[in-house]
Amino acid sequence: MKYDPDQNGYYGEFGGAFIPDELQENISQLTERYIEILESPKFKQEFAYLLRNYAGRPSPLYHAPRLSEKYGARVYLKREDLNHTGSHKINNAIGQILLAREMGCTHIIAETGAGQHGVATATVCAKLGLKCTIYMGAVDVERQALNVARMKMLGATVEAVTTGGATLKDAVDVAFAYWVAHPEAYYLLGSAVGPHPFPDIVARLQSVISQEIRQQLLEQEGRELPDYVIACIGGGSNAAGAFYHFLEDESVHLVQVEAGGHGTQGNEHAASLSCGTKGILHGSRSLILFDDKGEVREPYSISAGLDYPGIGPLHAYLAQTGRSTVLVATDRQALDAAREVSQLEGIIPAIESAHALAALPQLKFRPDDIVVVNLSGRGDKDMPTYLREFGL
Ligand SMILES: *Cc1c(COP(=O)(O)O)cnc(C)c1O
Repeated sequence: MKYDPDQNGYYGEFGGAFIPDELQENISQLTERYIEILESPKFKQEFAYLLRNYAGRPSPLYHAPRLSEKYGARVYLKREDLNHTGSHKINNAIGQILLAREMGCTHIIAETGAGQHGVATATVCAKLGLKCTIYMGAVDVERQALNVARMKMLGATVEAVTTGGATLKDAVDVAFAYWVAHPEAYYLLGSAVGPHPFPDIVARLQSVISQEIRQQLLEQEGRELPDYVIACIGGGSNAAGAFYHFLEDESVHLVQVEAGGHGTQGNEHAASLSCGTKGILHGSRSLILFDDKGEVREPYSISAGLDYPGIGPLHAYLAQTGRSTVLVATDRQALDAAREVSQLEGIIPAIESAHALAALPQLKFRPDDIVVVNLSGRGDKDMPTYLREFGL
């Protein structure tokens, strides 16, 4: 399709595979085989089985009546928060671990920020009996103690990374370095970032989200196409999944919501689409937050899952070509949106997902517009943040 990467892994001028020689062989094998494996009846059957019986899919598409009334449109929430382990991350973890197994890999390595991807990966590794090592910044290990405990309970090894700012970007750096030294391991990227073919693999595996939305809208509204699909973006995996089967339906407005932190006029944010410049990070060319010296800048967001200085190449392309609209939600706007959906619909969202909800007051709808917000995860992990911010 029109929005697939080209032969060299490019979406327009974004993407590619900037990788050290040590990884060339493994990545080109993966590039050669991934589509054939993902499209094989054996893979499709096992993936569908596990999504249904292990992850709990299809996730409901919930018509939110009180949010609808407030914003003057037909607002739906795609309930990825109801998946096993609490977010959309499990879709990708299941898919890539099946892919890794098919490629003959038995050791899975992954990075994690908030710990959600680490937990999803450790979960599926436990289920399928694979060795699992998770790299996590020491600051995040501290901040996300509960998720670290989950990973350990699931039998994974958690490596605390103390270099740099000791957060997500540093964890990715160290995980990449391990991979270069051990190319036989499978690096399970948690978002639609990294060298080709990872952004495409992640988008395809998460595309079950938009596949279900189409079906569910047909059942509930008598038409497959919404007017808006709104998703928050960290690296871009939940957005890629929610957009995928609508990319070529130009009537569907795709809205990407970035983490504005304390506001984009300063430096404390993670808005790489709005404020980034072209460059290379973690194996691909995209829009990245650099400082004056040309070093990758330490991003900031209240949400650990959106706190990344880059963005997937597909997303940079969608923004550049105008196929998507880019909005920014600050910490404050996300917190207000989190409280609002909690009290209007009885759903406490992940603070990441609250950024997507914060787009609602920023858009102008017509009364019969169908608006789908991808509720990427649940708020259990964010209760300490809500407790602190709201003085509960
Ligand atoms: C990880 C995470 C995100 C951000 O990652 P994407 O790859 O941009 O989707 C968003 N929401 C939740 C709940 C997450 O756990």
